[in-house]
Formats: sequence, structure tokens, C-alpha cells
Amino acid sequence: MAEPVTTAGQAGANPKHIGVIGGGIAGLTTALRLSQGGHRVTLWEREGHLGGLAAALPVAGTYLEHFYHHLFQSDREIVALIEELGIADHLLWLPSNVGYFADGKIWRLNGALDLLRLGFIPPHDRLRVGLVTAYLQRVKNWKKFERVTAHSWLRRAMGARAYDRTFGAQLRAKFGSYYDQVAMVWFWNKIYLRTTSRRSPLDQEKLGYIEGSFNVLIDALVGAARAAGADLRTGLAPTRLDQNPDSSWNVILDDPDAPVRCDAVIATVPSPIFSRLVPDLPADYRAKMLGLTSEAAVVALLQLDQPLTDIYWLNIADPNLPFTAVIEHTNFIDPQQYGDKRFVYLSKYLEPDHPYFSLSDDELMERYIPYLKRINPNFTASSIERRWVFRARAAQPIVTLSYGEKIPDHRTPLANLYLANMSQIYPEDRGTNYSVRLGNQISEMVLGDLATSSAGPVRVQGLSASREDGSTLEAGQGENPL
Ligand SMILES: Cc1cc2nc3c(=O)[nH]c(=O)nc-3n(C[C@H](O)[C@H](O)[C@H](O)COP(=O)(O)OP(=O)(O)OC[C@H]3O[C@@H](n4cnc5c(N)ncnc54)[C@H](O)[C@@H]3O)c2cc1C
Repeated sequence: MAEPVTTAGQAGANPKHIGVIGGGIAGLTTALRLSQGGHRVTLWEREGHLGGLAAALPVAGTYLEHFYHHLFQSDREIVALIEELGIADHLLWLPSNVGYFADGKIWRLNGALDLLRLGFIPPHDRLRVGLVTAYLQRVKNWKKFERVTAHSWLRRAMGARAYDRTFGAQLRAKFGSYYDQVAMVWFWNKIYLRTTSRRSPLDQEKLGYIEGSFNVLIDALVGAARAAGADLRTGLAPTRLDQNPDSSWNVILDDPDAPVRCDAVIATVPSPIFSRLVPDLPADYRAKMLGLTSEAAVVALLQLDQPLTDIYWLNIADPNLPFTAVIEHTNFIDPQQYGDKRFVYLSKYLEPDHPYFSLSDDELMERYIPYLKRINPNFTASSIERRWVFRARAAQPIVTLSYGEKIPDHRTPLANLYLANMSQIYPEDRGTNYSVRLGNQISEMVLGDLATSSAGPVRVQGLSASREDGSTLEAGQGENPL
């Protein structure tokens, strides 16, 4: 087992009680690090299980994520954690298999040669897609992409026709009506990380997966945090945080228990939830926090008795289809692990007020199923053995122009109250790797602050590497762009 990640300070004879709200990957990593730092930690998670968006459900004798998950080779923080927790033997790196559905046909897209065969755009446009992609893979200074939208930059660079059918279609699929507000830095990051997942442009990309599901990591994280002394409580959602005159916090629960007094509180929940929890939050911080918006996600998971396609990740570039990606997990991970059943996710990002977000599961499936025949004419609904629908209200932060300047600080204006959620991950896109990094960083910040307030300043050692240009970029995380 690798050495545990160093924390900034040890509580020694002066342990504090720290509350963590939210038991996703960020909250669990935070609870682990603070407990390892010698403090008493209580974590509250609203759901009956831990792991948040990365958690898995039981299927076919094993577990599978509610929302499809994989890792990129650039995901160093999460890989370090996996090694530290002693579960590296579960980490698989397997070839990805990407396709594009357009003009009623699946087009493979696993490298430069496939790009040349991309028949739904003219040869000249294929070349432009290839040249723009190659250029973006080489750009290191992402700062220049902060103040231009992906829509205008890509449209100019590739020409309207090539853009509309490829990257433009993907931006619309992911960001709906916000598609022309997303900063180019977000898109660049998606492309840039592919360079780290391939040895050469002709090489097939490899993606990571945790054999047995991300629950293996979540369980190991929970076990390590509990072993370090953390009290992780599920099915309990704080309803309010009140500050005491001595700057400690009372965590109020919908529970007959008395309020729980904490010396510091770290919230890892989405910003609108945090805003409701703290009535006394100063207006300018609240406005900054709520000024950042997110897309929601609706994801249907199907258990089939036979494959739908032979592609793992199928981007849908046909606006007539009601979902925007088909992720056939069992074309990435051997179906034998699932009793030879096939598992397919139908994904759609949308605004939370989109009608699909509030459709019943049955209504949603009624709309989705007829379209599966377009992808595979031999598909019949009778091959669906089970199905689930999962929804997440805060699923994908919308990275708009100059996003870096709009992110609220982790230290709120109220003493001993911290915010660490997905909206603060930048310039990379959100992802489990960056939630681990967030948990490492916020706990280090809190450990440093506590040590400073009780025993004078300590040196806070950064966990993320800095680049020569002063940025802290680690190549990004997210889903497959074209
Ligand atoms: C469709 C989809 C696909 C994805 N694919 C990938 C992928 O392939 N690879 C990857 O690395 N990442 C992927 N991600 C992103 C990844 O899942 C997230 O970035 C990560 O899990 C976020 O962790 P978190 O702890 O920051 O937040 P969350 O997981 O959102 O955790 C927040 C927790 O707070 C809890 N909570 C909310 N309100 C309260 C309250 N009042 N009291 C107590 N608890 C509360 C929630 O129940 C939740 O458990 C995907 C996400 C989605 C939606």
C-alpha cells in the first residue's frame, strides 16, 4: 500500500470537531483527510448510501454506477488514492471504443484513420476537424481560451458546416440552450486530455474502470475514514447551519437530536442547497455562488439480453433522437462480469425545468425506446429485461466566459464555514478525480486554518502541481468529445 497523502498539520492535543455535509467523493475524501489529521469528523449524507453521483446499484450479481463512469489516464489524484487505499488491483485500463451516430448510421471514431472515413461530412471538413483537433492537443496556455466561447472559436476555426455537424452538435447535446455560452477553455480541456490517454494519434485510447464498480473505491474510502475515526451518517440531511458567538457552528438536523456543535463546517453539496442551509450567508457571496449554473442529467439504464451495438461510447449527432449519448458499458467491461447481461445507458443533459426532467420513468422510456431501433434496426423492446431512470439536478457546471473570476472562494465570508463543490473545479471539467483533489485541497486548507488559529501559522503544503505559467492544470476529466 502506498504512503498516505501528507496532510498539512496534526491536531495533536487540540483536536476540533469538524462537520462535513455531503458524502460524495469530495466529502468522503475530506472526511478521511481531516480524520487522518487528528480531528473529530462527523459527515452527514442525505441519501441512504454514500458515494453521491459516483455510487453504484446492485445489478446482475455485482454493482454498476447509476451514472456511467470511467477514468482517464490523466486522473492522477484518484489513481493515487486508489493505490493508497490498497485497491489498485481493481483498476483496469481498457481500450475505449467511440462512435458517432449521424445520418442513420454509426461511424467509428477511434483515431485519425477513422476521422478520414467520417462519411457524414465532406473530406474537406474531415481535414478541418482533424487539423483543429491536432492544434488544440498542442495548446498548453489555456488562458487565451477563457474569454472566447467554444461556439465562436470553433465555428471560425472549422467553418460553420463542419462545426455544426460535429463539435457544435456535441455542445448542443451537452449544454442545450447554453451551448453558445460555454467558454472555449472547457472544450479545449476535453480535447487536451485525449493527448494524455493515447501514446500517439494513431494509438487507441485507454480508459480506466474500477472492477466491481466505483463502489469498491467508495467502500474503501468509507472504511479508511471510519478507521481513522470519522463518523459517517447516512439518511440525514442538515436543514440549517447557525453560527455561534464564538464562531463555531450549530448543525441543525430534522431529527430529534439537539443541534450538533462543530468548530468548522465544510459543505460539499451543490450551491443552491448550501444557500438554503445558511440563512446568514452574506448577499454578495450568495449571489456569486448562485451566479454559476449547472445542467441537470436524466440517465436511463437498460439491462438487455443482447448487445445493442458494438460501441462503448456513442455520441448522438442526430437532433431528432431524444437522448444525446448511448453508453454501452458491456462494450467496455466484459459482459461475463454481469452474467452475460448487457448494460446500456441512454444519457441526456438538460435544463432542470426541461419537461423530460419531470417525466415519470414510464413516460420517459416510452419516448426513448422507439429510437433504439434507429440505432440498431434489429433491436426489439422484448430484449429489455430491467430498466432504471436516474436524475441529477446539479450534474454539469456550465463553464461560461471568465469562469475563473466567477468562482466563490472555498473560505466563505463567515468564519469556519467552507464550500467545496463541483462548481469550483476549474479549468478542468468536473469528475471523480477532481472531487478527490477538491477533498485533498479543502482539508489541507482547513487543517492549515485550524492550526493557525490555535497554534500560530503552519506551512500549508500544496497537493496539486503548478505549471510554469502559474496555473495548476492537470489534464481534464469528462466525457468523450468527438
Ligand atoms: C451523467 C454523469 C456521468 C459522469 N461520468 C463521469 C465519468 O465518467 N468519470 C468521472 O470521473 N466522473 C463522472 N461524473 C462526475 C462525477 O460523478 C462527479 O464529478 C463526482 O462524483 C462529484 O462528487 P462530489 O462529492 O463533488 O459531489 P456529489 O457526488 O454530488 O456529492 C454530493 C453529496 O451531497 C449529498 N447531499 C445533497 N444535499 C445534502 C444535504 N442537505 N445534506 C446532506 N447531504 C446532502 C448528495 O446526496 C451527494 O451524495 C459523471 C457525472 C454524471 C452526472
